[in-house]
Amino acid sequence: MENEKSREDILKYFRTYGNCKLPYCIEVVAHKEGQHVVIVGGTHGNEPAGVQAMVAFHRQLKNGEIKLARGKVSLLLGNPRAYQKDQRYIDRDLNRSFDDPDSITLEGRRASEIIYYLEQNNDTVALLDLHSVSIGEFKICVYEKQNPRSLDLTLSISDLPLHFAYHPKHMPGTLIEAAGKHHICGLIVECGNHVSRQGINTALEHIQALLGHYHLLEASISSERSMPATITQYESIQFIKPAAHFRFLIDGVKTGTKLAGGQKFAQDDHGYHIAPQECFIVVPSMIVKPTDHDAGFLCKRNRLARSDL
Ligand SMILES: [Zn+2]
Repeated sequence: MENEKSREDILKYFRTYGNCKLPYCIEVVAHKEGQHVVIVGGTHGNEPAGVQAMVAFHRQLKNGEIKLARGKVSLLLGNPRAYQKDQRYIDRDLNRSFDDPDSITLEGRRASEIIYYLEQNNDTVALLDLHSVSIGEFKICVYEKQNPRSLDLTLSISDLPLHFAYHPKHMPGTLIEAAGKHHICGLIVECGNHVSRQGINTALEHIQALLGHYHLLEASISSERSMPATITQYESIQFIKPAAHFRFLIDGVKTGTKLAGGQKFAQDDHGYHIAPQECFIVVPSMIVKPTDHDAGFLCKRNRLARSDL
């Protein structure tokens, strides 16, 4: 894998190798027919690990280090403008824009372009949306609770022991929800830190495992990953809606922070946020703006034993 490139280099890479009507999308097609999978990185512009992994993967394909035996893979830079500026988004969160894309905001227009692409590529079987985090090496798989196909796919390709299963009404407008509307199995992976080698490697492993799962790669890449016997799954019970001056009242709040029923856990201009029952916090981003759809989620915790599933 080559050294990390600058953001401008990466944008140029996608412009150079981008070969379809959707800007910043690289399609690689094998000679033999097979399934079509879509990989996305940089849905949030400040999360480069998945983008770096996509470029590393594309280089491996170009070098012949890895060969696409059949089918097609699309590598899509989700939000190029936000990526260029190292911002989560420009006008609105792209990953909450897919249920009502507007023609005014940058993300609204990008969401429409991507939806059109999914419509035109109705043979797509799976979409992997790669994210990363700013603090630590936090890793989690995220999918819709009601979608058993996504859980099956996650268990097949991911060795991460932590899952977040959300109800679409709590997190509307995600890219994987848009994928689901087109019968595409969607999965988000938070791969670890934005800038660590580990984050990029986790993203790369998930890309390779997804393609391996659909038999798209020539030789199976030897990965001796041991799959965890049990999964901790957080299931959303409500989203935390922030108003102006939102802040958590708990020091070091993070995904998995436990709340007692009735506990005041956050405050903003509308008053206190109070836990309705014993529950756990899931926070996708530590930077909360009042315009954000959510500042995180309150969840119950399920333990899944792989042998029972
Ligand atoms: Zn993200």
